[in-house]
Amino acid sequence: MAEHRSITPDSPGTSIRVRMAPSPTGDAHIGTARTTLFNYLFARHYGGAFILRLDDTDRRREKPGAADALYRDLRRLGLDWDEGPDIGGPSGPYVQSVRTSIYGEYLDRLLASGPAYRCYCESARLAPLKADQVARGEPPRYDRRCLARAERERAGRERAGLDHAGTPYVVRLCLPAESGAYHDLVYGDRRYDLRHADDPILTRSDGSLLYDLASVVDDHLMAITHVLRGDGWLSTTPIHIALFHALGWEPPVFGHLPQIVGQDRRKLAKRDGSAALGGLLRAGYLPEALVNFLALLGWSPPDGDEVLTLSELVARFDLRRVQRSPALFDTTKLDWLNGVYTRRLAPADLATRCLPYLRTAGLLDGTSANPDVSHAENAAAGDVDAPDVPDVRLERAVALSQDRLRRLDEAPDLLGFFLRAPDLDRELLLERGPAAPEAAALLAAARAALTEAADFTAPTLETMLRELAATHGYSTSQLFWLVRVAVTGRRAAPPLFDVLAALGRENVLARLDRAAEAPGVAS
Ligand code: GLU
Ligand code: ZN
Repeated sequence: MAEHRSITPDSPGTSIRVRMAPSPTGDAHIGTARTTLFNYLFARHYGGAFILRLDDTDRRREKPGAADALYRDLRRLGLDWDEGPDIGGPSGPYVQSVRTSIYGEYLDRLLASGPAYRCYCESARLAPLKADQVARGEPPRYDRRCLARAERERAGRERAGLDHAGTPYVVRLCLPAESGAYHDLVYGDRRYDLRHADDPILTRSDGSLLYDLASVVDDHLMAITHVLRGDGWLSTTPIHIALFHALGWEPPVFGHLPQIVGQDRRKLAKRDGSAALGGLLRAGYLPEALVNFLALLGWSPPDGDEVLTLSELVARFDLRRVQRSPALFDTTKLDWLNGVYTRRLAPADLATRCLPYLRTAGLLDGTSANPDVSHAENAAAGDVDAPDVPDVRLERAVALSQDRLRRLDEAPDLLGFFLRAPDLDRELLLERGPAAPEAAALLAAARAALTEAADFTAPTLETMLRELAATHGYSTSQLFWLVRVAVTGRRAAPPLFDVLAALGRENVLARLDRAAEAPGVAS
């Protein structure tokens, strides 16, 4: 069977419609982001529709704010979705909790037409039943005692004046005693056997609905053609197929995506903070890099070129290239990709993206301790709110540091000295230069020379400092070390003369003064 279930729908004129059904139970996991991306790429590649549908059927597990955070983070990745009338206008997602009356109608239909039945068994009966089965080495399974009795019992209770609210029951689906098969777009032909399967519960005893019925009903009503989801659902898919059949509907095509494992080859746990989408964005991975990285979690491009933007991915995406074996979450690769995209950005763009990190570190507000001259204007203008647009000096700083910046959260460390005079590290200063009083004299000489610089450009500064070293009988590396540490506070920094030029004369002279006069250096 199933040869006709190809990637694109059989009937001409039917376009692809896929959905992502995340549950708002916490910080979105990297697996959720990957599955969302694959649905998005599949839909956009074939010009179909991509639907976002919030699976909030289990209100008890819902975490406040999780849904909004998810929408925001998916939008940051550029994964926009289509339709969804329930909230937030035309681009709002579908929300299952506001659709419960729809699922209730179909539940009634299943109860009335036969495939579903009420089960009044209490755990006092079910627990020993299950224990016996397990002891005999059988899979635990409900014995269907209520299947025959359900209607009789219900009628009896009604006659006795007991209403349903007072009589807890679950609704179960009576699975057909049959085997079946379907074609999975990733796993190929799948056979299954429902003859010994446990009748699944569709609604809990408090009347609340489990995901399965809601999912099947929505997939049908929303004309979903392909269900692409994590391979954790492989064992449930036969039950969903049975539900489609019980409702008289044709199931969609299924494709199950490989799980994501960490370096230890174990499945990345939901609670693993390093695997949370929001956390990775906050850590300063660029959305562009994350999208590229996510695409490679279980899929490989046909031509081997792994650096691909979202639109390049859309053009190349092919479900036939999705693997079954687990995908490795390789942080080294993510760091590498992030570096690639960071270097591609225009300095002004990169500087803008660094702003929130610099602001949080207190490097942009006029109130930060020891504000340097570059931002003194902000403070003077009473501009306590940091600017949303980076100033030219920051842009220059970013341009000089772009090669070294691996993640945006490194911006305060790498760019801090451009924005604020660094703490003076006397030991570092004296590590390679001349000893104490000579160091101060040399710094003072450098200060005097640079005061006279005709212009404050890198070539001029380089010529002057080389001459100065020769005049005073020091090696250039000794002098440059002193100046670098005095001005940047760092062992390694972008090319010294570019740094000096970017900082500007006033800042540089002030920092040289401060180092020359520091206790332990001056004497
Ligand atoms: N909310 C389900 C999940 O957490 C959706 C499964 C599906 O795509 O049908 O994965
Ligand atoms: Zn029962």
